[in-house]
Amino acid sequence: MAIARTAGRSRIAELSAQLFTSLMPPPIYLDYNATTPVAVEVADAMQPFLRGAFGNPSSSHWFGRHANDAIEDARQHVAKLIGAQSQDIVFTGCATEANNLALRGVAHALENHRRHIVVSSIEHPAVLEPSAWLRARGWEVSMVPVDRSGWVDPADVGNALRDDTALVSIMHANNEVGTIQPIAAIAALAHARGALMHTDAAQSPGKIAVDVADLQVDLLTLAGHKFYATKGVGALYVRPGTMIASDLQGAGQEQGLRAGTENVPAIVGLGVAALLTMERTATEAAHLKYLRDELHRLLQHHVPELTLNGHPTMRLPNTLNVSFPCVSGRELLRMVDNKLAASVGSACHSESDNVSGVLAAMTVGPAQAMGAIRLSIGHYSTVDEITRAAEVLALAWKQLVAKNPLRSSYA
Ligand code: PLP
Repeated sequence: MAIARTAGRSRIAELSAQLFTSLMPPPIYLDYNATTPVAVEVADAMQPFLRGAFGNPSSSHWFGRHANDAIEDARQHVAKLIGAQSQDIVFTGCATEANNLALRGVAHALENHRRHIVVSSIEHPAVLEPSAWLRARGWEVSMVPVDRSGWVDPADVGNALRDDTALVSIMHANNEVGTIQPIAAIAALAHARGALMHTDAAQSPGKIAVDVADLQVDLLTLAGHKFYATKGVGALYVRPGTMIASDLQGAGQEQGLRAGTENVPAIVGLGVAALLTMERTATEAAHLKYLRDELHRLLQHHVPELTLNGHPTMRLPNTLNVSFPCVSGRELLRMVDNKLAASVGSACHSESDNVSGVLAAMTVGPAQAMGAIRLSIGHYSTVDEITRAAEVLALAWKQLVAKNPLRSSYA
């Protein structure tokens, strides 16, 4: 009876969702840096592992071996995506976990010799918070600044390095403004002082090339849900021989670096997402950049005083962070909420009223930072969506400006 009632309720929910969709099309989605939809190919590949193929990959029987084979296939695909070997990939629950493993794991392994780390001022909280955690436990943390475009100067990292630096952690590309960092140059400096190099590349796959040999990194973080796999899966690349300790106590999965039974369906999906990303590499960046630049051009046409936040050229091809004059970006997005989904800064703090810490670190003034919104484009974005998004934003901006007489010179 209870089951029938639940089934009835969910059928009603399904019908009302269909009705909602048919009456009101969903908003245009331009928030791919927050998360991406799951690719159909990914969902299809995961299906068998949500049904019959349920084995525990650590079991030695048929079911276990089947699950384990699927995980090892996925490991190969993910490794290939970043130019690594399968055995260098540790699957995690998310990018946050991979970053924590990198920072805390290296800190733990090297604590008797080196107790200093270097990060940048625009890292994601998934790096800044473990750094703060380490600092509270006696580690010294140097935070290098960024310039006005959100770029880390390798010379600043060089100046921060010490004989006891264990790790440098600088993100590959920033999630809010898209600026791409000179990771190889920074890694060379870190290695020259005997420090390890980690980069958080959660935002990179599907947008720019990620190759651990080119980047010269020892540790690299990936996030499944930023490149068309599901949420709840990530990976940490660990160069062979890297001094790192597990952050979790338990059984010995993932070469002893991430205890806990693996999330088989999500890992299978991550493997397929890696394959899709490799297949699309040649065309995807050009598609994203074309749409991104078209959106920028249209917005500038409607709002000539629009300002770009982030590096003009060394930037993710899908990311457009712009400040609208004389309005709050949050207010602007609230006005267009039923037509367009984008964000002010990172999805992780888009509900807080503070201006973005990334823009503050870039010394963007408070008025410009308040007017900022992040528009991020993805594989499924279309020219039509870009055109409509620009119109919707420009109209809402004009209405907001007109409402306030102090802003009327812009109306
Ligand atoms: N690092 C970067 C650069 C990100 O953009 C994000 C998510 O926005 C993360 C880490 C954290 O990812 P997750 O929430 O999947 O752990």
